[in-house]
Amino acid sequence: MAVVKANAYGHGVMRVARALADAGVDGFALLELEAAVALREAGYTQRIVLLEGFFEAGELPLLAAHRIDSAVHGMAQIDMLRAAPPGAKLKVLLKLNTGMNRLGFTPAQLPQALQALRALPAVDEVTLMTHFANADDARGVDWQLNAFEAAAQGVQASRSVANSAAIIRYAQTHADWVRPGIMLYGATPFADVSAGALGLRPVMTLSSQIIGVQQLKPGDTVGYGGSFVARHAMRIGVVACGYADGYPRHAPSGTPVRVGGAMTGTVGRVSMDMLCVDITALPQAGIGTPATLWGEGNPVDDVATAAGTVGYELLCALAARVPVVEKK
Ligand SMILES: *Cc1c(COP(=O)(O)O)cnc(C)c1O
Repeated sequence: MAVVKANAYGHGVMRVARALADAGVDGFALLELEAAVALREAGYTQRIVLLEGFFEAGELPLLAAHRIDSAVHGMAQIDMLRAAPPGAKLKVLLKLNTGMNRLGFTPAQLPQALQALRALPAVDEVTLMTHFANADDARGVDWQLNAFEAAAQGVQASRSVANSAAIIRYAQTHADWVRPGIMLYGATPFADVSAGALGLRPVMTLSSQIIGVQQLKPGDTVGYGGSFVARHAMRIGVVACGYADGYPRHAPSGTPVRVGGAMTGTVGRVSMDMLCVDITALPQAGIGTPATLWGEGNPVDDVATAAGTVGYELLCALAARVPVVEKK
């Protein structure tokens, strides 16, 4: 099942669903009930899973009517299922907490939770799931996978455990349903392996252009707060993109930007609608020169690293005001 939460990591859930369905996807996983209903109403027949499940009993008729499957991670949700309208049938994913310590039943609670679910007329079929905390780093998955397998031993149910990092690094986690997110969008789940090295290509390219050029003398400053001071004569380009578009405001000077095919960096503070780039060494750059903030030729992960975050956050934060052009 393809993870399309957060508006498909900023890419547009309906747009991405269409592409994934064309590629033969078996299911969609997300958080947002409204988007899940929209997918079903758009005619997708694949499995649709709510990764955090329902939040109140009032949502259950909608889930049942649209065949939306739900994670069940706590006793409070089981109580809500008891109050489901007669005739409602739901497929659920029983979530085990194997060490992430956010949501899920402990291995010790599993038998009781499973028994309770299976006794409920509203529960149709149960899948066992868990989520890894360290699939992308040195601690790895074995400590959680062992806990999961020990708890799930002997349970007749399909299983789903792997996120992108586990899919790529740990074939033993693939089980019945994998849950790729970030890798579908061409960014890396790892801090130490680039998307390119994994053979992933960016789906989203955030681009704009230079709409102004300034010639700086030594001592001149750039942007709000004058946080950047020119130490020598400089030429800077003003790019029409800012934090209201989803570009991180905390990106420091030097954050990579591709300008007309060459790499350079930001200068000064990112503003709401603009940011500045150093084009001193790019005499051919001027008004109208394209700038790639991230994507093709400027990996989102490199921009994220410079800004002290991860590609996930930048992609998700793409603002609604940014016009989207679909390329074939
Ligand atoms: C977001 C999420 C995923 C996908 O994670 P990626 O690192 O983007 O592959 C998988 N499973 C669950 C439960 C999630 O919340």
